[in-house]
Amino acid sequence: MIDTHCHLDYLEDATAALERARGVGLKGFVLPAVGPENFERVRALAHSHPDVGYALGIHPCSVDRLGDGALAMLEDALTAHADDPRLVAVGEIGLDHFVPHLNKSLMEELFHQQLRLARAFELPVILHVRRAQDLVLRGLRRFGIRRGIAHAFNGSFDQARAFTSLGLRLGFGGAMTFSRAHQIHRLASGLPLEDLVLETDSPDITPSWMPKGSANQPSQIPGIADYLARLRSCKTDDIVRVTSSNACASLPKLAALLASH
Ligand SMILES: [Zn+2]
Repeated sequence: MIDTHCHLDYLEDATAALERARGVGLKGFVLPAVGPENFERVRALAHSHPDVGYALGIHPCSVDRLGDGALAMLEDALTAHADDPRLVAVGEIGLDHFVPHLNKSLMEELFHQQLRLARAFELPVILHVRRAQDLVLRGLRRFGIRRGIAHAFNGSFDQARAFTSLGLRLGFGGAMTFSRAHQIHRLASGLPLEDLVLETDSPDITPSWMPKGSANQPSQIPGIADYLARLRSCKTDDIVRVTSSNACASLPKLAALLASH
C-alpha cells in the first residue's frame, strides 16, 4: 500500500507515524511541500526514511502570503535537486476556488508557472483542485502535462474522465468515508480501478471512524482500502494491488525508489 499524499512534516511525530503505517502494510509514502518554508523540511524528512518520496511546489492556498521570490526559490530547489531520486513530483500545486478571498488571478499565474516547471523538469504533478476542475484541466493541456495525481478528487464523471484521459490518476481518501459524500462514492465505485490511487492527506481529512478533530495518519490507508473495496464490491487485496501499481505508474521515481530499497 502507498499513501500518495501525506503531510508528514505536519504530524507531531512523523517517525512514529511511519512506523505504525509500515506495521499495517504500507510500503511507500509521498510527502508534498506547500511552499518554500517547508522545502528543506520535506526533503530532510524524505532523506531520513528509505520509503518516502517528496514533492516540491507552492500550494494554491499559500498564494496570498507568498513573497515575490517564491517561484524563483522553487525553480532553484528543483534545479538543485533534479537528480535526487527522492524528488518524485512537483506539488502540491493547483487551484482552489472554494476558499474565499484568495487572489484567483495570481493563483492561476502561479499554477501555470509551476506547470511550466513540471514540464521543464519532466516531473509529474500532485494537484490540489477545488471548484476549479475545468480551469486546472485547461492548464494541464496548455502545458502538456501527462502524468500525476489529482488529490482528494471530487467533480463530475466527465471531469474525472478528462483528467484520466490526459494520463492523470485520481486520489481518494478520508472524504470518501463519509456517508453523505454521495458524489465521491459514485466516482470511487464507478471509475475504472486503474484510474485510482489511495491517500490520507494526513494530518487532514480524518476518516469517518476516527474521532473528530484527531490527526489523520498514514496508518489509516488499510481502512480506506477496505472502504473502497466495499463500495466497489471487490476484494481489498485487489484494491491494494491495483492502486499501488497505479501510484508507481503515476510517479516513476517513487517506483524506482521503492524498488531499490
Ligand atoms: Zn495536501
